[in-house]
This record gives sequence, C-alpha cells and structure tokens, in this order.
Amino acid sequence: MSNTTEKKYHYSEIFYSIQGEGHYTGAPTAWIRFFLCNLQCNGFGQSDPTNPDTYELPFLDFDVKSVKRVEDLPVWEKGCDSSYTWAKKFKDLMGHETPSALANKIVDIIKNESNPEGKFLHPVSKFHQHLCFTGGEPLMVTGQMATIGIYEELQRQNNLPGSMTFETNGTQKLKPAFLDWGKSIDTEIFFSCSPKLFTVSGEKSSRAIKPDHVAEYLQVSKKGQLKFVVGEKEREWEEMESVVKQFRDVGIDWPVWIMPTGAREEEQTASAGKVAEKAFKRGYNVAARVHVYLFGNAIGT
Ligand code: SF4
Repeated sequence: MSNTTEKKYHYSEIFYSIQGEGHYTGAPTAWIRFFLCNLQCNGFGQSDPTNPDTYELPFLDFDVKSVKRVEDLPVWEKGCDSSYTWAKKFKDLMGHETPSALANKIVDIIKNESNPEGKFLHPVSKFHQHLCFTGGEPLMVTGQMATIGIYEELQRQNNLPGSMTFETNGTQKLKPAFLDWGKSIDTEIFFSCSPKLFTVSGEKSSRAIKPDHVAEYLQVSKKGQLKFVVGEKEREWEEMESVVKQFRDVGIDWPVWIMPTGAREEEQTASAGKVAEKAFKRGYNVAARVHVYLFGNAIGT
C-alpha cells in the first residue's frame, strides 16, 4: 500500500448522476466532491459583485447544527453555491476517508440493478462511465494526492473509468507526483477549467486568473475546456474575453463554454436565454446546466 492510500482526506459528497455542463454533457458520471478551496467567490449572485460592502452571505448565518447531512443544506442564492465545501463551519458534515475507502465508495455508488458490481465499463451499454473530481477545488494538494490513491485502488480492482474530469478553478500548480502520475496513465484526463471573473465572482484577478499554472496542465493532457460563469452585463463579457486572450497567449486553445449566472432553476430560466443568445452570437458554446433542468437544485445530483 502506498503512502497516498494511508492518509485520510475530507470530502463532501460521492454521487452518481450525469455530467450537466460542457463537453461531457449527458455522460453517466461518478462524482467525488473534495473539501477545500483557495477562493471564496462571495460576489456570485450579488447586486454588485465588485463591491464587498454590498454583499449578503446567507451561508454565514446558517445554523449548521440544524442539519445532519450535506444533502439537507439549502442552495444559497448569494455567494459560492458550494460554500459548504470550503467554509470551516461545515467541516463536521464532511466525510473523512482513505483513498482506498473513497474508491470503494465510488464503486458502491455506481452499483444499481443494471450494474450490480459497480463496473465503470457498464455491463448493459458496454460504455465506460466517467469519473469527475470536483469541489471546492479538486486540485488543492490534498485533492491531487487523494486522486492518485483513488486511481491506484481502482486500477488494482481492474475497474478504471474511461475518462476523468477535473473541475478546477485553474489556480493550482500541479505537484511533481501528480504530473508524473498524470503522464504515466492511459486513462484520458480532461481539465474543465473555470476561471473566476472579478466582475462576476468578486475574486481579484491576481488570485483567480493563473494561465501559467493551467499551461502546465498540458503536460498531463491536451484535452480541456474553459468554462466561464457570465451574466448579461457587458463588463462581464469584456473581462471574459480579455481573460480568454491571456489563456490563448500561453498556448491554451480549449473551447470556451459560457454558463449563465445563477445556481437555481428559476434564475436560469430568467436569464439563460439572453445569455445563451449573446454567447452563440459571439461564437461560444453554451453550457446550460442540464442536471438542474432534470433534477432541480438538490445537492448530490
Ligand atoms: S472556485 Fe468554485 S468552489 Fe471555490 S469559491 Fe469559487 S465557486 Fe466556490
């Protein structure tokens, strides 16, 4: 057993659903959501994301003792919709397991009546299921190490996914161990990189926009996408396009997907059409959060 399989890591959820956004939309996917993020994105959903004095952050006032499970938390309209995956007050709701135990939980979650052994190569469709690492920020050092251990355990069980996505904010540097692992495996790695815009998330560009770090990801895989949460305001589109240029300048040619602001179904309906129209007229793909349309806003879908 390697060191990576001995240490325990915090995670918030392991679930099985479809990928709802971007390139892999519709693919049956096992998800693991790690705890921790280096950003906060408190500006999401605020009247002026660039002015912290105007923020309302309902997650700060939420009484954690009123729930026993992550799945019972509300989806907050303002601030990061995944604040429970990084705010310390929610840490007691998190699971804490070794990578081998996490791998077993992932296998368990994809078991169902048509796939009783939880095989990534599905016995009915004969297609490989996808595995997605998300967060929080899944490429924090802890997430990188946990990932290697999970993969090694799935490999030992001869039950590997066909491809793996990292849903990252694109700020983290990859550790040498992760780079070596990523270069050595045959399973496709896909980087779904979602840089956070100042005009939408309130995160300063100096913290949130790191094209040089993402350029290093190309050593592991050339496959990926740039995904931006954008609303209707022109200043958001201008910032998005200037950030895309920064990524292009370091050699990242991944397709751009635009995801309309708003985590909740009703917000999407109100603005998604207008944002989608703006996106395709400017030549970008539209990521429409299909899982929210199919399953609503529940955590764990
Ligand atoms: S990067 Fe993602 S998880 Fe982290 S604070 Fe921003 S929206 Fe939340």
